[in-house]
Amino acid sequence: MIKLHATLLLLFCSLFSQAQNDIKQYKTYFATGSYEGKNILVLRQFKQATQQSYLIVNPETLETQIINSQQVVLKPITFQEFGISLKNTPYYKALQTARQQSLHLQDAGITHGFPKEKGITLTIDLCPSHKPLDRNIFTALIAAFQKEERPVPLALSITGKFMLGHADDIRWLQRLQKSGELDITWTNHTYNHHYNPKAPLNINFLMEPGTDLNFEILGLEQAMIERGLLPSVFFRFPGLVSNQKLVDQVTSYGLIPIGSDAWLAKGQSSHAGSLVLIHGNGNEPIGVKDFIKLLATEKATINQQQWLLYDLRSSVKNEFK
Ligand SMILES: [Zn+2]
Repeated sequence: MIKLHATLLLLFCSLFSQAQNDIKQYKTYFATGSYEGKNILVLRQFKQATQQSYLIVNPETLETQIINSQQVVLKPITFQEFGISLKNTPYYKALQTARQQSLHLQDAGITHGFPKEKGITLTIDLCPSHKPLDRNIFTALIAAFQKEERPVPLALSITGKFMLGHADDIRWLQRLQKSGELDITWTNHTYNHHYNPKAPLNINFLMEPGTDLNFEILGLEQAMIERGLLPSVFFRFPGLVSNQKLVDQVTSYGLIPIGSDAWLAKGQSSHAGSLVLIHGNGNEPIGVKDFIKLLATEKATINQQQWLLYDLRSSVKNEFK
């Protein structure tokens, strides 16, 4: 009987804490203001546990944060007014550059890498997969950089499907972040990431007819925040496939599309300043093997701190300041 009570109590507690995390009325809301002495831009508004909250970005550093609505006084703006209020900020310049670099069917957005840097900026995509997270990548990185760079900065492109199907892997990553071993920039890679292997690219991925882009973007962000993941201002197109209209739509959410100039599994090699892409969802063993080989090749230069990993936010900031 006591055991039954304890089980019911546990169930009640977990339902209660789940309800506490639930988010309501999650939507795009743009406003400028000042928070802790710095200019900020509000990107989203939502209610969590009866509390009105905002997702904000610092347009100088591109760092995001969730704050209580009572902590700021705001002036609402439209997306069209970004050019007035945010004109000289790295965030706005990166957003504009991404909009202009979207003529091709593949690899729109910021792709060219960051030539001022000696190492690379690493992006790891977590597309939907039935296989577990490739944990080797992360343990190899932590081991390779243990003396030179702690925490190790990397950008993880997350999908809703992967997040929901791999709760243990996500908690494992969160623990590495909490313990100061990883510094993860969570990039929006859409909720569903639909892919039809038989369809041509121009009607595939996000260009598949009937796609609900609003849900793909905001539905994912909401699910992330409910699980304790902080959305960034970065977006990666599924399959790196898009057209101008989609780029315009995605950027109008305040998100900066990030491409890649070194997709290792496709044989593109990395050089200083590259924006490297590998897949961490268990479906790209070649890219992961190449990356771990790259770490071994660069071992001596890592030890001399001549080859480091760069935080996506600071790479973009330094490129566009
Ligand atoms: Zn993907």
